[in-house]
Amino acid sequence: MKRVVVITTGGTIAMKRSPMVGGAVPSLKGEDFLILLPREGVDLVFEEFSNLPSSHLTPVNGLELAHRVESILLMPDMDGVVITHGTDTLEETAYLLDLTLKSSKPVVFTGSMRTATNVGYDGIVNLANAIRVASSAEARDLGVLVVFDEEIHASSAVQKVHTQAQHAFLSPGSGPLGRIDGGRLWLTHHPAQRQHIPCARLEEMVDLIRVVQGADDRLLQHSIDDGVAGIVIEGLGGGRVPPWWLPTIAAAIERRVAVVLASRCSAGSLGDEYGYVGAFHDLRRLGVLMAHNLTGSKARIKLMVALGAARHDGELRGWFPA
Ligand code: ASP
Repeated sequence: MKRVVVITTGGTIAMKRSPMVGGAVPSLKGEDFLILLPREGVDLVFEEFSNLPSSHLTPVNGLELAHRVESILLMPDMDGVVITHGTDTLEETAYLLDLTLKSSKPVVFTGSMRTATNVGYDGIVNLANAIRVASSAEARDLGVLVVFDEEIHASSAVQKVHTQAQHAFLSPGSGPLGRIDGGRLWLTHHPAQRQHIPCARLEEMVDLIRVVQGADDRLLQHSIDDGVAGIVIEGLGGGRVPPWWLPTIAAAIERRVAVVLASRCSAGSLGDEYGYVGAFHDLRRLGVLMAHNLTGSKARIKLMVALGAARHDGELRGWFPA
């Protein structure tokens, strides 16, 4: 029989409405999930990592989780790992594990959009599907996956795109890797870009700054003055900033701050053919690192991991190819 470890971290999937608090709070434990799950020939071991909303988790917690998952995956009698997580920052933790884990065994994140006291609770169907994927040989070597509302997504591509709907996760640009239909996995493609960054510690002083029309460079300047190690700029379109940001970006790089460019668009690579000031060519010339096909929040996770792991500048640059 296949063996899967389910690590619980909290989130709506573990929440029930408490009349005392007047809102939903983390409540369900491993044994509660076990009672609700259908028996499907997989031996389950539950382990609690935390019982928190995902807004209370940090990338440092994510790296601790990665190290725990790594040690489970080394056990020869374990076939895969499922992680239940709040949906708000699920894509960030899942991507952190995708970057830092190397095992070919499946690791699958899931959660729910409705609490366990809501009639439409989607936690059990999502968890049952995640267990099905984690125990499947077809899901090996796909990197860390996110299973939600019957779809299977690559953690590098998936994004929470709706605040309330049960179909809250999409992979803009690439689409899901597959579906779970009639209790079976139907994979249609493999994750396009996978990178491994072996990481024992991460750099926490990394800021994310989004470009908006007409914004001045105060936030950028503030980050530099605070002594951050890295800044991710979520730029316009294929990678553009207002012209008045360029001197400040140059000053940051001069002070050895790692500056990474991502796009504020939800999908696509970086690059353009414009010759005007502040377009892609200016940022590349200044030595800005490129995060193609990544959201700003995932580019920040990658820069935190990469800055913690890099032994020299060349290694850092190698993880963000132009
Ligand atoms: N508040 C929740 C969280 O922990 C949202 C969810 O899980 O859907 O992220």
